[in-house]
This record gives sequence, C-alpha cells and structure tokens, in this order.
Amino acid sequence: MLRRTKIVCTIGPASRDKKILSKLLKYTDVFRINFSHGTHEEHREDIERLRAVSAKAGKVVAVMQDIPGPKLRIGRLSQEPVILKKGDVFRLVGKEIVGGSSEASVNYPEMLSLMKEGDTLYLADGLIRMKVRKSSPEIVECIVVQGGLISSGKGISFSRRQTSLKYPTEEDIRHIKFGLDHSVDLIALSFVRSKEDVDNVRDIVGDSAYLIAKIETRNAVDNLHEIVDASDGVMVARGDLGVEVSIESVPELQEKIIGECMKRGKPSIVATQMLESMVSNPVPTRAEVTDISTAVKDGADALLLSDETAVGKYPARAAMVLRRIASYAERRLKERTGMHEDNLNPEEAVSRAACILATYSGAKAIVTPTQTGATARRVSMFRPSKPIVALCTDAHVMRRLCIVWGVLPVMVEQASSTDELLDKASEACARMGIAKQGEYIVVTSGTIGVRGSTNMLKIMKIS
Ligand code: PEP
Repeated sequence: MLRRTKIVCTIGPASRDKKILSKLLKYTDVFRINFSHGTHEEHREDIERLRAVSAKAGKVVAVMQDIPGPKLRIGRLSQEPVILKKGDVFRLVGKEIVGGSSEASVNYPEMLSLMKEGDTLYLADGLIRMKVRKSSPEIVECIVVQGGLISSGKGISFSRRQTSLKYPTEEDIRHIKFGLDHSVDLIALSFVRSKEDVDNVRDIVGDSAYLIAKIETRNAVDNLHEIVDASDGVMVARGDLGVEVSIESVPELQEKIIGECMKRGKPSIVATQMLESMVSNPVPTRAEVTDISTAVKDGADALLLSDETAVGKYPARAAMVLRRIASYAERRLKERTGMHEDNLNPEEAVSRAACILATYSGAKAIVTPTQTGATARRVSMFRPSKPIVALCTDAHVMRRLCIVWGVLPVMVEQASSTDELLDKASEACARMGIAKQGEYIVVTSGTIGVRGSTNMLKIMKIS
C-alpha cells in the first residue's frame, strides 16, 4: 500500500494509554496535542509517553502543539457532558464559576459585551445554536434554539464579530514556551486573522518549530495569501470555518487553501469530522469515505482526526480506516510536474526534473539530502509517483518533515563530500527496503553546507 498522505491523530483520554498509542503509531505520522484542553502536566506526560512509545517502535513521528488563540470558550462544567434542550435558558457569565446545565463562565469575559440581543451563538462547531435574549457586560442570557451535548472548554462562535484581542494571547505565550521547552515540532495557530498574527508567534518561536496557521476565521480567508506566505503550513480547520463562513462554501475554500499551499510548496492539513461517525461506530459512512478521498484528490498533504482518536470509542480503528481510504485514493493521483512550468525558480526546476527523471527511468525513489527540509518540500510540491527519501542530519528537521506529503524522513551522519552523500543515499534506500542492488535511485540536493539550495541532480545504481 502506498502511504503518501500523512495522518495526524489527536491525543486525548481515548488514546493516552500506552497500548492504544502503540496501535495508533502504526498509522500516524504526527500526533496533535490540543492545548485548549488539559493541563501542562498532562501534556508533558503525553509527550513523554509518545516519545517513549515511538522510540521503542523505532518510528519517526512529530508532535504538533495546537494553541487556542483568541477563541471564546466556555469554562469548566460540573458534569460532562451537559445536555442542552431546545427552549432551555442558558447564561454565559463573566465571573469564574463551575458551570452546569443553565450557565457557564467564559475565558474572555470582555467579549460578553460584544453580544447583543438577537445575536445567534454557535457552540461546539455549530452543533448547538442559541439566541441572545438579554445581554449585559457581565451576563448574556440565551435561549437554546438547537440543543445538543456540551462539555468543558467547547468553543463559542458568534456572527462574525471581529475580536481585537492581541495574538498570541498571554495564555498562548505560556503554551508556546511550554511547547518550546518540550521540543514540539509543529505549532498550530488557532484563529489567526492576519500575517501579523503569524509573525508575532514567529518572533517568539524563530525556526524552532513549523508554524501551521489554522484557517478558520473570515479574516483568515480574506488574508489567505499573506498568511500562507508567512507560515510553514496551513490547516483547513473546517469545524470553526463552517461556522464563520457559510457551510456550503467549505469544500470550495478547502480546495482553494490547499491549492495556495501547493503553489508554494507548503504543507496543508485537512481537519475535522473526517470520520466523525467513528467516534461511536466501528465503520465510517459512505459520505466520510468520499470526503477523505476528495481531500486526497484536492492535494492535501495530511488529514487530521480530532474527536475520533481523542475521545472516540475506536481510536486505532479510525486511524487505520483513514490510512486505508487515503492510500486507496492516492492511487488515482497524477504527478504535478506540469504545474507552473514557466514560473519556476532554479531550485524548483531541479526538483521538478528529479521527479520527471525518476518516473521515466523507473528509479525506485527520489532521495533528498536536506539540511532545512526545503529540498524535500520542493520535491513533494510536484507530487512524484516515487517515494521521497529525505536524508536529514538534524532530528528537528526530520520530525517536521513527517507532515509533508510523500516524504520518508531518515537520520544520517553529516557527509563531508558529494561522494559520501551519494553513498549515504544508496545505503538508506537499501536499508529501508526501497531499492536493492542494481536498481536506480535519483538523488537531488544542494551544495553541502549551503542551506536551502537545490542544484544537484544525479541518477545512480545501487551498488
Ligand atoms: C477546527 O475548528 O476544525 C479545528 C481543527 O480546531 P479545534 O479542533 O481546535 O476546534
């Protein structure tokens, strides 16, 4: 089976256990830890457990920290979940309380004054709808229009009201510092609105982690190009996006966002409700299978599971099903070597040539020794039909590449000459069982010691 689309699984109560993690590991490339829930102590334990399990299995995986951003959320509830029924009165209150079936606190009390009588509030990605009946800066009283289940920390969206809260928030900064202390590989930025939001996080993080901008606000959609340029990758966060913009425009936006990433050689992740029914059922719906297949066809680098693996009844099974559907869908993908033919820079042109050479020569792999990950990302941009083996000398770079379509990252010692580099390429392919003696591989890389360049292309026989 081909395994080119990457799988991201969210860790939660259903998957925290070592045994489940070991099963999940088989299908997963990146583990996401959602910092909107849980404590730093729990996150530390999750990261340590995950690293222990992956080290034991000898599998390279990355950790993605997902920071909450300026998202309005309800506070802690006394029971989980709480059932809200149509016609119920529910209050959002500014002071800190433990909530229940008739009231809950919010994390940004100052946002209550933005809610006006007649406004519609959406909870839990729009599953629950409430109308504001009375509002004051301290209490907003609502009537439930569409009921459902809510639990602590669930998000609240309301009619495209702009927040002027600074990005990242104080809470985000605490999370980011924790993430950097624990060497997370990717940081997903919830509710970014502009390039400045991404730049502000970059000022703190530098190049210690990939910054993945979550596109889930109307502003982010409006500023899409500059956000993709400023970040290392993007997530189509369909849960909140489907509340912020009309739900029927989500498929079109998904295609557009992925397309913008693909043009720039930046990874894109499609998230939310990919296998929602598998939170409680052992098999997916036909519609989910088709949705996954569409995301693969759109050109997504990675697909993300949230509740399915965080709180669902079948976490490992959901990941396995996602892997199977994605692998099947990949068989119909075509190389994108014809893309932007007349608009390539020299590095991109060499990467494109590597893909064409591999296809026409029957080479078994494209090997990219890479210092920063840039060469591997550039080759992936053309979606070659052959595996991309990324030879890395930096463990951070190796783990970050876990999110990039088609890339198999491996650690090697730094080579001191081109000949040594080619030997390492051939050794790695043989060791990984990708090519055997007498078979061809294509190697493309930059000049040793020059970061980010791609100017060498070679076809060679495994000796
Ligand atoms: C989403 O809204 O689709 C998403 C991925 O973000 P979160 O799970 O943090 O709500």
